[in-house]
Amino acid sequence: MGKIRILMLGGTGEARALSQSLADTGRYDVLLSLAGRTDKPSPQPVPVRIGGFGGAEGLAAFLQEGWFDLIIDATHPFAARISRNAGAASAASGIPALALRRPEWKAEPKDRWTHVATVPEAIASLGPSPRRVFLAIGRQEAHRAEAAPQHFYLVRSVDPVEPPLVLPDVYLVLDRGPYDVEGETSLFRAHRIDVLVTKNSGGSATYAKIEAARQLGIEVIMIARAPAAAMQTVATIEAMLAAIDHLFPFAMERGV
Ligand code: NAP
Repeated sequence: MGKIRILMLGGTGEARALSQSLADTGRYDVLLSLAGRTDKPSPQPVPVRIGGFGGAEGLAAFLQEGWFDLIIDATHPFAARISRNAGAASAASGIPALALRRPEWKAEPKDRWTHVATVPEAIASLGPSPRRVFLAIGRQEAHRAEAAPQHFYLVRSVDPVEPPLVLPDVYLVLDRGPYDVEGETSLFRAHRIDVLVTKNSGGSATYAKIEAARQLGIEVIMIARAPAAAMQTVATIEAMLAAIDHLFPFAMERGV
């Protein structure tokens, strides 16, 4: 018998790290799937395929045709559609699915968070008076800011926002992180930011902006996650490795 075949839905640092850990065991063949959103994806430790599958049905067919034993959803917590598709494709194909989902950030005593459910709601909650906004939500929904052009926006994304934003007062920063508190504090100060708009992504790579906002007493508009897809879910790479070993104990016994 060959190795256990895993399709990993990625696009996150965790997916890269988990791929590396699985490859290191020598027991698993991992194919990492990326949506193709970034122009220059980070180098990956396992073979990669890029692009959509054509919905849940396309994903189920891909799983079956590739003789996969397991699908792992290690996508970003705000990539809700692909996670739903993974759950549906698993149910349709009978191929088990596991999700790796980092815990949400929780407000600490000095945090000044306003909770909203969507990006448009976040933009509306900035109010009518001009403010200086750090929009740290990635590029896909940055154009929602066009609904409130009275504000200054500092917009940070990995790749340029396309089409360009139609806003009178905007400053674009291209960066991928991870970030540190010192750098984030300088950025807040340099642009005299008075409010941060962010998704509740969780994890450590982008948490520095939350800490910087806390230290500077700046308000944070926190966009909540959509309900997670129904799948067995773990929060850490270690827990995921244990869940996989539990699912395929024979792979460990064989020591392949
Ligand atoms: P999404 O809205 O959940 O997915 C939209 C469509 O993109 C899916 O239906 C699927 O197309 C395709 N897709 C998404 N992830 C894929 C993957 N890993 N492999 C192959 N196809 C994929 O996702 P999104 O919010 O656009 O995010 C796209 C990717 O960027 C994800 O891989 C995610 O991990 C990463 N990312 C997202 C965010 C964020 O804030 N949303 C932040 C950082 C990284 P088909 O239906 O045709 O299969």
